[in-house]
Formats: sequence, C-alpha cells, structure tokens
Amino acid sequence: MPFRVYNTLSGQIEEFKPLHASQVGMYTCGPTVYDFAHIGNYRTYVFQDILRRWLKYRGYALRHVMNLTDVDDNTIRNSQAAGLTLRDYTEKYIQAFELDRQLLSLEDPEIVVRATDSIDDMVKLIQTLVEKGYAYSSEGSIYFRVAAFKNYGQLAKLDLAGIRDGARIDSDKYDKNDARDFALWKAPKEGEPFWETPLGPGRPGWHIECSVMSMKYLGETFDIHSGGVDLIFPHHENEIAQSEAATGKPFVRYWLHAEHLIVNGEKMSKSLGNFYTLRDLLAQGFKPSAIRYLLAAVPYRRHLNFTFEGLQQAQQSIERLRNFRYRLTRESFPAGENTAFEERARAACQAFEDALDDNLNTAEALGAVFTMVRDGNTAMDRGEFRAGDRAAFLETLARWDRIFCVLEDHDHERLVKFGFIKPLTIEVADRVESTDAAQAVIGNGHPGAAVTALPTDEEISQWVAERDEMRRKGNFARADEIRQNLHKAGVILEDSKAGTRWKRK
Ligand SMILES: [Zn+2]
Repeated sequence: MPFRVYNTLSGQIEEFKPLHASQVGMYTCGPTVYDFAHIGNYRTYVFQDILRRWLKYRGYALRHVMNLTDVDDNTIRNSQAAGLTLRDYTEKYIQAFELDRQLLSLEDPEIVVRATDSIDDMVKLIQTLVEKGYAYSSEGSIYFRVAAFKNYGQLAKLDLAGIRDGARIDSDKYDKNDARDFALWKAPKEGEPFWETPLGPGRPGWHIECSVMSMKYLGETFDIHSGGVDLIFPHHENEIAQSEAATGKPFVRYWLHAEHLIVNGEKMSKSLGNFYTLRDLLAQGFKPSAIRYLLAAVPYRRHLNFTFEGLQQAQQSIERLRNFRYRLTRESFPAGENTAFEERARAACQAFEDALDDNLNTAEALGAVFTMVRDGNTAMDRGEFRAGDRAAFLETLARWDRIFCVLEDHDHERLVKFGFIKPLTIEVADRVESTDAAQAVIGNGHPGAAVTALPTDEEISQWVAERDEMRRKGNFARADEIRQNLHKAGVILEDSKAGTRWKRK
C-alpha cells in the first residue's frame, strides 16, 4: 500500500504523491525561542521526526526546512527584561532547543533558519503584496487585506462571513481597516528593536516569516507543511493567504497537524501546575528515550494523555525490546532454522510498515513489533528457537528502530555530555570504590561539560568479567562487592543464562 496521510486542507486521507519524484519538500514551524520548549511542543516535533524518518525509509530524498522565530512580542519583552540584545537572548534558547532535540534523537532538518536572517526576503514579499493590492499601510504598519483574498478560510474551514467584525484574527493592537486583517509589518514601538527597510522602520509579523522562509528554500509550491493543530488558525491560514496572493499558485499540497498533548486528562498550563519542559522531566529522573517513546506511541492525530505512569510503562517497553535484542544476539540456540518463526518476523515487519503507511499509525507499528517479541521470547523459552532464526528478527527490529530510535541506550552518555547529570566517578586502586551515583541535575546544562572519571564501557566490562571469575572461583564476597560498587556507580548487573549483562541506571 502507498503512504497515505490525512490532509487538513482536503479533510481527507490521501495518497502521498510528491511534486517531484526525486525530492520531498517539507516545512515545519519551529519554536519561538523565548523560553524552554515544553513537552506539548515536543509531541509535535517527535511526530515530525517520525514523518521525516518514514519518508526517508520509503526512499524519498528529503529537504526539510524549519524556522526559529527569534523576533516577536515575547522574545522582545523577555530580552528587554533580561537586559540583553534580541540576538543574545534568543541564542540561549536556540542552544537549549538543539540540546533537547539531540536528547530526544530528533534528526536535524536539512535547513534551519532564524527569522531575523531573512528580513530582506520578507520585505520583498510584503512589497509584492502591496503592489498587487493585497496589503495596505496604516500608521507605519502594513496589513494583509483579508477581504481581497477570496479563498481565505479554506484550511480552517471558516466561513468568512462568520468572522464577525470585532473578532480578532490577530492579537496585534494596531489600527487596521478591518478587524480580520493581520499585520505583515509592524511599526516600531518605543524602545523596541526594529530594522530600517524600504518599507520603513519596523519588524515583521509572525505569519510572514513562515511564508517567506518556506518558499525561499522549497519553491512557491511544495509538498508538506506541518505543525500543531493550534497553528491551523490563524497562522497557517494566514500563510496560505500571503503566499498564494503573492504567487497566484497553490502554496502547500499536504497540511499535516498534530493534536494536543494533555497531562493527566487536563490541558497543560502553568496555573494548574502540570506544565513540563523536557528539562523538568529529566530533573525527575526520567530518561529521554522513554519520553521520546511515549510521545511517539500515540498516533499524531489523537490527543496524547501524558502521565508519569505512561512514562514508566514506556521505560519498561523499551527494556523489553532491548532485552529481546540482547537474547537474540547473546543467547545460544541450537543450529538450524524454523521457517515458521522467520515468517513471523517478516510478517511483523510488514505489519509495522503497513501501519506507518496508514497515516503514521505508530500505535499499530508498536503493536506489530511487540507481538513479534512475545512470540520470539516464547519460542526461546520453549527451546524451539533456532540459531538460523536470529537474522530475520534482528532485521525487523533494526528496521523498526530506524523510525522509533530507542534500541540503543544513549541516555546516560548524552545527559552527561550536555551537563544534565554529573559524571559518575569510580576509582580503582586495590579494589573498586565509587562516589554515590550522581543524579544531581544541573538545570541549564552547558554543552561540552567535562567528562572526567566516567567508567567507560570497557572498564565496566572488565569488572563484570572479574566478578564472573570470582563467582566461578567461589569468591562470592568479592563478587558481591564488585556488584555493589558498580551499583553505586549507576551500573546495574543482570545475570541470565546468556551470562551477565550490565546497563547504566
Ligand atoms: Zn509557522
């Protein structure tokens, strides 16, 4: 089956057919960099990452553009309060966003652009709109004339007449001819940063940014535009109006929107005390991989109810997958093969692919692989699994993980690297000693924090080997001592038929 997506514009599931066979053009609205992004934002970014990875899995070359909104009312207000230039203030949150993205294994878009680096292009598009009669000036600001664009409301399914006079599309407090009109260019206010341009002094409105940056890198018509459902109106509706009024061509072919994340059944808000940034969750000891898994597990068009129990279950699910892969690679099985099992592994792969082709049904894609894990574990426990069956199972797991990205455990290494947790220290003199596992979380971690005495994988493996030898020799006291010391350093040992496996807490 071909890849099908729900297109907000048509209101239907459609087969995805890119404009150019060779490359898919995709634009995603990035963050406004005035604060740390919250988990509701990351729900959307994880969905977009799954979409990215799925397009590539299906063989498309991808050109993905994302903006960083580094000028708007919030960034201006906060930078002034902090006594910093807009650039310096937003830089901190851009870096934080990049770290968060790496922690969550979000791939980098091919092109990431700051709004303030594209002011000239915005000025040109606004000039075009003025020339064509779609925009007008008023007291130094320039507005889009909604009444002049006959298709306004097509994305949000609005009845234009239904937008009563006085109902504000835009929250800007500027003089405009019609309450529905929105600002393309804003006259400078006292003390605010502004740009001297052929339009006069001022700064761009938010909506014009995305029209300009998407078309600049992807052309006047491109394949996919995506964001959270809260962006459908007015942001994306306004983007369509600006772009299509200027070019006379269709702007975007497929609009994909992710539903809201709610927390314990309630809307996330600071006043309810259920508002979480990624950093808040890391401070509580949750792992980035578990957060990614939970955010990916619910299909993007459904509300995602975020709970701590859900996060714990996500952690357990990941462990189950990793344990299964560990058995596949380390346990010994009788020679030969059992074609029925191989067939199940292939069927699981097919089911996982079919699920993602079906408008990225991640829940079914997870279900497919867990059915395979259950069957595989049962076959191993019963002694029916054969050495020749390994490859098909490993292949399915690997393909699945190209999208979900949780099988490799990078959590600890990344958290240390970015300064979110202090490195564990462990000294070996005559015997293994260690400090307590350092779980202290440093709020605003800096990249490149020194990793001094973190026990390396190799060192841990040596201690594990020494412990195994002690157990063989019957020196259980020493073996237990090694286990305890490793435990203090945040390393957990698990003994099984396949030998001793270790992992970091
Ligand atoms: Zn946008």
